[in-house]
Amino acid sequence: MRELLSVIVPCYNEGAVIERTAKAIVDTCTGRAFDFEIIFVNDGSKDDTLAFLKKLAGRSEKIKYISFSRNFGKEAAMLSGLEHCKGSCAVIMDADLQHPPELIVQMYEKYQEGYDQVIAKRNRKGDSRLSIVFAKLYYKLANKLVNVEMVDGAGDFRLLSRRTIHALLELKENNRFSKGLFSWVGFNQIYIEYENQERAGGNSKWSFKSLLSYGVDGILSFNNQPLRICIYLGGIFMGISILYLLYLLIEILLHGIDAPGYFTTILLITTLGGIQLFSIGVIGEYIGRIYFEVKKRPVYLIQETNIKEESESE
Ligand code: UDP
Ligand code: MG
Repeated sequence: MRELLSVIVPCYNEGAVIERTAKAIVDTCTGRAFDFEIIFVNDGSKDDTLAFLKKLAGRSEKIKYISFSRNFGKEAAMLSGLEHCKGSCAVIMDADLQHPPELIVQMYEKYQEGYDQVIAKRNRKGDSRLSIVFAKLYYKLANKLVNVEMVDGAGDFRLLSRRTIHALLELKENNRFSKGLFSWVGFNQIYIEYENQERAGGNSKWSFKSLLSYGVDGILSFNNQPLRICIYLGGIFMGISILYLLYLLIEILLHGIDAPGYFTTILLITTLGGIQLFSIGVIGEYIGRIYFEVKKRPVYLIQETNIKEESESE
């Protein structure tokens, strides 16, 4: 029997392109060395995405869908896909044809060679110069702070072997930052490059604000380096203050009390105040994360699906 490859596609308001995407994936995967299933995860779309998915699922039993009760985000959609896929490997890809389906074949070949993660890495052709500069800076900073490696252009578009999927599902954190998780689990990885593509239709779901928050997540989800920076900063400034106090003491002993010092007082108050606020903010972020993790809420809720539940003892 041929090996099963699962294609996982998170969709949020992708009614404009979803049929084209499905067709492209089916065309690519038909008549190959592997068998395939496509799992569309409808992440609470407000348009006709679900209707399209049902129609597609009616036409082919290879097409599955999972529909969430509301929008839970792409991370949740990917997790759900990984939890429900049955393939011995899975490819995660976007619904907007920015991830060329043809690459699935190439990925599968690499998988056959024994790789556990075949990572598609896009170049940044066509991106605005500003976003290229931002991305460069961010990856520099993030890789300094975080102890897993993140590569610019390497996103969620990748093939994962069954043991990689298994490892990912073992990571139970609620606040998921896949880019980091993929890198954290490790296994044999290989990169293949592809040309950056325009969206085939519909709109990108990213705003500056959501990108910023995703960026902060990336840094905070992976270690407590920022807390350590607070400690260093605090230490440095405490050292400086002590030296300054000693200097003042000597001055007073030698020359007697001499007045103002207004500038230095203000300076100290503001810098220390600043550092304290910053540190409290960082600590607060971590506590916030702990708060969400301890609640142990499910990452997503399924409203309907055509995937049949298997018995627990698998
Ligand atoms: N997506 C999702 N839930 C969301 C936002 C996006 O499932 O809340 C999906 C979206 O349908 C697409 C993929 O994630 O398949 C990438 O989104 P988008 O194309 O907007 O991101 P970009 O390509 O601009 O980075
Ligand atoms: Mg896109």
